[in-house]
Amino acid sequence: MYEQSLKVAVIGAGMAGLLTARELKREAHRVIVFEKSISLGGTWVYDPLVETDPLGLDPAREIVHSSLYRSLRVNLPRRLMGFLDYPFSLKEGGDPREFPGHEEVLRYLEDFARDFGLVELIRFGHEVVRVERANEVSHEWVVESRTRGSESEMEEEAFEAVVVCMDIWPGMQVHSHNYRTPEPFQNQIVVLIGNGPSAHDILREISYVAKEVHQALRASDVHFKKLENRNNIWQHSVIKCATEDGKVVFQDGSFVYADVIIHCTGFKYHFPFLRTNGVVSVDDNCVGPLYKHFDYENWLVTQLGLPPLEEWREEMYFYALKKITSHDDDEYWDTWEANYPAREIVHSSLYRSLRVNLPRFGHKVVRVERVNEVSHKWVVESRIRGSESEEMEEEAFEAVVVCMDIWPGMEVHSHNYRTPEPFQNQIVVLIGNGPSAHDILREISYVAKEVHQALRASDVHFKKLENRNNIWQHSVIKCATEDGKVVFQDGSFVYADVIIHCTGYCHKCDFN
Ligand SMILES: Cc1cc2nc3c(=O)[nH]c(=O)nc-3n(C[C@H](O)[C@H](O)[C@H](O)COP(=O)(O)OP(=O)(O)OC[C@H]3O[C@@H](n4cnc5c(N)ncnc54)[C@H](O)[C@@H]3O)c2cc1C
Repeated sequence: MYEQSLKVAVIGAGMAGLLTARELKREAHRVIVFEKSISLGGTWVYDPLVETDPLGLDPAREIVHSSLYRSLRVNLPRRLMGFLDYPFSLKEGGDPREFPGHEEVLRYLEDFARDFGLVELIRFGHEVVRVERANEVSHEWVVESRTRGSESEMEEEAFEAVVVCMDIWPGMQVHSHNYRTPEPFQNQIVVLIGNGPSAHDILREISYVAKEVHQALRASDVHFKKLENRNNIWQHSVIKCATEDGKVVFQDGSFVYADVIIHCTGFKYHFPFLRTNGVVSVDDNCVGPLYKHFDYENWLVTQLGLPPLEEWREEMYFYALKKITSHDDDEYWDTWEANYPAREIVHSSLYRSLRVNLPRFGHKVVRVERVNEVSHKWVVESRIRGSESEEMEEEAFEAVVVCMDIWPGMEVHSHNYRTPEPFQNQIVVLIGNGPSAHDILREISYVAKEVHQALRASDVHFKKLENRNNIWQHSVIKCATEDGKVVFQDGSFVYADVIIHCTGYCHKCDFN
């Protein structure tokens, strides 16, 4: 027993918050639990509402806390899921299954809170927006919370200790899209996810200022190692988890306490304006109808003397490594140039063609449509940025070239999946292989026309599942194109209506 009774704030009345409150209360501390919603249970409170952005990328979206889907059953047997001194046992009228539905977990948590007198400790509808030391010498913390409701109010209160009970990694996270310069990473311990061109560039320049850089790579043969010739760069396999004490654990068993995670995981393009009525289509990576079909891969081989693509990729990897390990930019480019003197030609010709197009900066294309059914002309409508009255401009062209990637179907994250009905008769691609992927795949397969699961494991190849006539397995997705085609790395493809991302969950706390 702690000899002093402290005033403690617990943030969150989910499973972790309730258990923490009980333990603190047992030790005679004075506990207040802040819970932003109006009920306890956190993740286990099913919410039929989903977020306004189904992929959960728009920061301005309305956030829904729970990720539960209606049919979710626990993935641990009761005996393991319950607390040691408060078994998760079957109650009258409850779900008798060893792996019960989510409602049973909520009931269990409600009973737990009631039996230990925790409900009266919870301030429902209080969202914590700031936790800060009261001043430099004090041991107290100020907790500022916002009350829910039509007239939301701010409240401040001092505590001697604060316990944060939400799934969380406390460090900073940034996507390479929002990376500009290395200076903010001075002396930081950085985990960088990815192995593409921006990953290599950022890794290299950050490594000159950061204390340590740890690159997480997806390739199956990657294991923890320090890069030769560099004393502050390590390679690891993919991240397994990131925990609330700032630890990032990799699948190869290595770990690091990091300050920041940089996601160099690629970019997503979107062009919702193209209404071609099927006139422009993409088949096997070939956009048609085009004036001349252009075989980029073959062109590289024949015109520029570069090796075929597979070999080229290996070379690229080698040079990328060299680029990372080299202290000297010139040395890197010199080696590249000596091997591929044509490199400059590729670069400059692409750049020249960009300039002669005289780009209309600040023009966002919102519609591309045939002028009429008989014309060969296309209307391009654009919105001019910065103009006072959202000025629109229309102009006719004889041809339109779209130079952005797009997949026109619906995309949803499993966090925003609730029931299978919306997927009736749809062709669904489902990414992932975790518990929610399995649950959703199974129940969707009863109503969907086809379900195609994209799996990351290196030994996965295209196959139909035995005993099921509408489920296929594929390797990871290579690309998704504007005609609705989803192409997998194993060469298989499907024209799909929807992609469901069962790629895990991410919780964040903005208040500290
Ligand atoms: C789809 C899914 C299925 C799962 N299945 C299982 C399973 O079968 N078995 C298992 O053991 N685990 C499972 N889990 C893991 C589950 O997350 C944990 O079991 C556990 O419920 C996490 O509890 P928590 O208290 O840490 O977080 P949460 O349950 O998320 O609770 C956090 C609470 O904090 C509140 N909160 C957040 N921000 C603030 C703020 N600023 N101010 C005040 N309050 C705030 C939230 O409203 C919420 O009530 C699953 C998770 C998911 C997403």
